[in-house]
Amino acid sequence: MQVELRRTFQFEAAHRLPKLPRTHKCWRLHGHSFKVEVAVAGECDPRLGWLVDYAEIAAAFKPIWEKLDHRYLNEIPGLENPTSENLAAWIWKRLKPRLPQLTEIVVAETCTARCVYRGS
Ligand SMILES: [Zn+2]
Repeated sequence: MQVELRRTFQFEAAHRLPKLPRTHKCWRLHGHSFKVEVAVAGECDPRLGWLVDYAEIAAAFKPIWEKLDHRYLNEIPGLENPTSENLAAWIWKRLKPRLPQLTEIVVAETCTARCVYRGS
């Protein structure tokens, strides 16, 4: 039985998008309550009746969360231009080795806008 699990995390952070024109509002320093959704997929263990422990997903994400929460994202190596797209890929690169079943990272800056990254 193929299944997919999703777990959502939240962190608060500041950023600015330095590649945009100075007149764009996102060029200015501002903050978001970022939401990150982590999706894993695969074959459900027939004995346990689950794919992976949700706690395992949380444990794998924790060191990444600690690097992001209450930070100025532009100061983090690899996130000098911290768009949702770059942030999703940055998280993927760090999470995939810890969570091989990872299939998708969703990064939402607001309730109405989000980026989906599937590792390519
Ligand atoms: Zn922003």
